[in-house]
Amino acid sequence: MKIGIIGDIHGNLSALEAVIEDAETHGVDSYDCLGDIVGYGPEPSQCIDQLQHLEIRGFVQGNFDHVSSESFELPGFGPGAAQTIEWTRRQLTESNKSFLRELPLVQNFGDITLVHASLDKPTIWEYVLDEPKARNAFKHLTTQMCFYGHTHVPLTITQSREKNSRRKIIFEKYKEFILEDGERYLVNPGSVGQPRDGDPRASYIIYDDCDQVVQFRRIDYDIEKTQKKMRALGFFDFHAKRLEKGA
Ligand code: ZN
Repeated sequence: MKIGIIGDIHGNLSALEAVIEDAETHGVDSYDCLGDIVGYGPEPSQCIDQLQHLEIRGFVQGNFDHVSSESFELPGFGPGAAQTIEWTRRQLTESNKSFLRELPLVQNFGDITLVHASLDKPTIWEYVLDEPKARNAFKHLTTQMCFYGHTHVPLTITQSREKNSRRKIIFEKYKEFILEDGERYLVNPGSVGQPRDGDPRASYIIYDDCDQVVQFRRIDYDIEKTQKKMRALGFFDFHAKRLEKGA
């Protein structure tokens, strides 16, 4: 089965539609979604509707899904992020909110685990980008591979197969790789709707669970269309501008 691994969509419908179109032409049967469906982008409920029409296998909650579906104050968020969360809260229907609120933080399917941020205390929303954070996440990994999001940076972190306490950890930016017996992996597909690795194209993964192949994909989409909507809604220009930079 080919599974589309998508995450950090952030209310960017044009990016999501481009990814779905690409996935369909490559024979994707179903999807795992790593959360942050909403936040920053101009089409939060449209993105939820679109996802609810797909064959979704796994679905975990992101920090923006969490804050946008609740009504508490927003300490710790910058003015741009707080503005977009408050706007998103007003756009979401009650059924959108209860859908987001009920998403689990972690899901397992056979050899695969899904989480938005880190398996080490998932509600703290840590960025897994360095070795200490990766080692902490690996301690909680009970399957061979975990797909995670949150950083918006595509990345594969491999834990080597030797059985001593200092198993090597390797960080790589792959286009495609095949799983090896004994190795374990933390794999981030990057962001559909707000990439931050310097490449503005939408980012996702096709995982073939028969051939054990993980393929990273980058897809062009109509960035200007999303930017125009954000500007018309009076969002902070920083968030519109960063889409074209992928940063
Ligand atoms: Zn995100």
